[in-house]
Amino acid sequence: MEYRRFSDTFIMRLNRGEEIIASIGALCEREGIMLGSVSAIGAIGEATLGYFDTNVKQYFTHQYAGIYEIANMSGNISTQDGKPYLHIHAVLAGEDGTAFGGHLSRAVVSATCEVLIRVLDGHVGRSFSEEIGLNLVTFSG
Ligand code: ZN
Repeated sequence: MEYRRFSDTFIMRLNRGEEIIASIGALCEREGIMLGSVSAIGAIGEATLGYFDTNVKQYFTHQYAGIYEIANMSGNISTQDGKPYLHIHAVLAGEDGTAFGGHLSRAVVSATCEVLIRVLDGHVGRSFSEEIGLNLVTFSG
């Protein structure tokens, strides 16, 4: 992982073998980023994508291993219990160009990954909603 800050934006390069979500979390912890937006492109060899089934209020995941482009990755950084909370989605494209996507919980870089993190001033929390079954954005906590 290498990164630089340019005014309110961090640009980070991840290398082969690095896991994207853990790396972004480590940067947030290290730099004290508590609110922001995330976007990235790159190439990965492994990924775990999930979807939330609202009927049973539970995440289900699919594991992928192969050759994939990150066609788009976007998300946000908020906080829960005083720690950075990442919520990131990704659209991946395989060898035939077919795209698929979901909630990104893990992705391992195969070539490179270029991440932009825009830092925002302020605080947005998360709190668990029994009704929905997810940690929703909250402006009070
Ligand atoms: Zn999600």
